[in-house]
Amino acid sequence: MKEYKGKRVFGGIAIGKICIYKKEEQQVKRIRIADTNAEILRYRQAKNEAIEQLQDLYQKALKEVGEANAAIFEVHQMMLEDTDYNESIESIVSGQSVNAEYAVALTGDNFSQMFAAMEDEYMKARAADVKDISERVLSILMRTDNPIIDTDEPVIVVADDLAPSQTVQLDKDLILAFVTVQGSLNSHTAILARTMSIPALVQTSFQIDRQIDGKLGIVDGENGVFYVEPDEKTVQEMKRRQKEEHHKKELLLALRGKENVTLDGRRVMLYANIGNIKDLATVIQNDAGGIGLFRSEFIYLEREQFPTEEEQFQIYRQVAETMAGKRVIIRTLDIGADKQCDYFEMEHEENPALGCRAIRICLSRPEIFRTQLRALFRASIFGKIAIMYPMITSIKEIEQIYAIVSQVKAELDEQNIEYGQPEQGIMIETPAAVLISDLLAKKVDFFSIGTNDLTQYTLALDRQNTSLDAFYDPHHPAVLRMISMVVDNAHKAGIWAGICGELGADLSLTKEFLAMGVDELSVSPGSILPIRKIVRETNVEQYKAGN
Ligand code: PEP
Ligand code: MG
Repeated sequence: MKEYKGKRVFGGIAIGKICIYKKEEQQVKRIRIADTNAEILRYRQAKNEAIEQLQDLYQKALKEVGEANAAIFEVHQMMLEDTDYNESIESIVSGQSVNAEYAVALTGDNFSQMFAAMEDEYMKARAADVKDISERVLSILMRTDNPIIDTDEPVIVVADDLAPSQTVQLDKDLILAFVTVQGSLNSHTAILARTMSIPALVQTSFQIDRQIDGKLGIVDGENGVFYVEPDEKTVQEMKRRQKEEHHKKELLLALRGKENVTLDGRRVMLYANIGNIKDLATVIQNDAGGIGLFRSEFIYLEREQFPTEEEQFQIYRQVAETMAGKRVIIRTLDIGADKQCDYFEMEHEENPALGCRAIRICLSRPEIFRTQLRALFRASIFGKIAIMYPMITSIKEIEQIYAIVSQVKAELDEQNIEYGQPEQGIMIETPAAVLISDLLAKKVDFFSIGTNDLTQYTLALDRQNTSLDAFYDPHHPAVLRMISMVVDNAHKAGIWAGICGELGADLSLTKEFLAMGVDELSVSPGSILPIRKIVRETNVEQYKAGN
């Protein structure tokens, strides 16, 4: 038996087979080929498939983001037809009797170096495009149908790290727990584990060894321990604790249907955070009063191209209908920083957390924003949808958003398409928004405080950088004072304020949040009943008086 320490993301115990997460490896090997004519044919087929993919992408982008942004896919098609590029690949295959993958990779490298060395800025920029088209052809040539996690029974997923774009591809029904060597407590993999209410550890002190793939493992989420090939005594002890936890959960289930009201009559809304419609089952099981944060960017992350208006409309409508009149707050696209989507083709940034993310992308690429807004406004007649805008720093941004909203409504009117009147609120997750929250409150219907980003920006601590953990204090008085200030300013303007960052689920702060007058806590579904328990046992006035 081996034992490794990790940082606890979510409690609970998982016992099951270990499955090492396999990254799609694109290692190109040089292989000798006897029948080079057949190999050239294989290349041509892959190239034609790539051109078809690009044609589809072009058509889709044309509808979604307009001609100027779609043009890149046309350029890529032309580059794939380029005589020099094709001759180079085919002559490497026939001249050196090698595989098409090697010839494509070599030609991609040679051509991109050649472009990069040119004087002309336009030609220089083509270096990245040659690489891009070559990678597209390579991924077709090297296509394997191996699933990322190769299992048909639920497993403990072990990985070096998992990016949001990777976690969205995992089949959630097959995951018992996550263990990663890297990853921070506020990373989106951690958030996903909390949403799924499964044990998870990050920064686990071991080196991934493929030999443990398929072996028995135990994740003790409570104590932050990962056991590989546990001995019989440990297995029995963990099974006993699993039963105990199950019993505790059953007791909490008795709180379903009960109100979130304190002993002295203060009410608070307890909502759930979700990233996917599949999360709705746990939302209902845990009796959430609504959805306080639907991270809509996951719809974008799980696709290889922009989701259409219709695809989004169907998802938003389904969430609204399932929640049957309860409030559903859908946050508009928050791409950027750690949530990267290749097809957005964002420029490389030195400081992505301080870069073009969230509302900044929506305001600088309004075609993308408009598609989402149209879907949201249309879906809002099927339930109580509210729209929430992320990463706000100024009044000017709100005015720009409202101008686009007006255009969207006018367009829908013109087309005789029905839409509702959703509430519109903002996330307070930058110190700038906190300091002007008195002014912002006059412009919107509600505030939701994103403590994950607010903490990162207030303490100047990158939420992804695990080496800064020693400096990270989630209870820092600066953050707590900011929350209190935002709530006061919201109430002065007659609107409500909630918290949808991870701090909202910190049970050691529930009483403090009630004392501040926080109106809503939006947390992972599994945290709703434990918070309800504390709320129902608290007397806010007595707590404030220090008793
Ligand atoms: C936050 O920043 O607190 C938040 C809820 O948004 P996200 O974690 O998705 O950035
Ligand atoms: Mg945020």
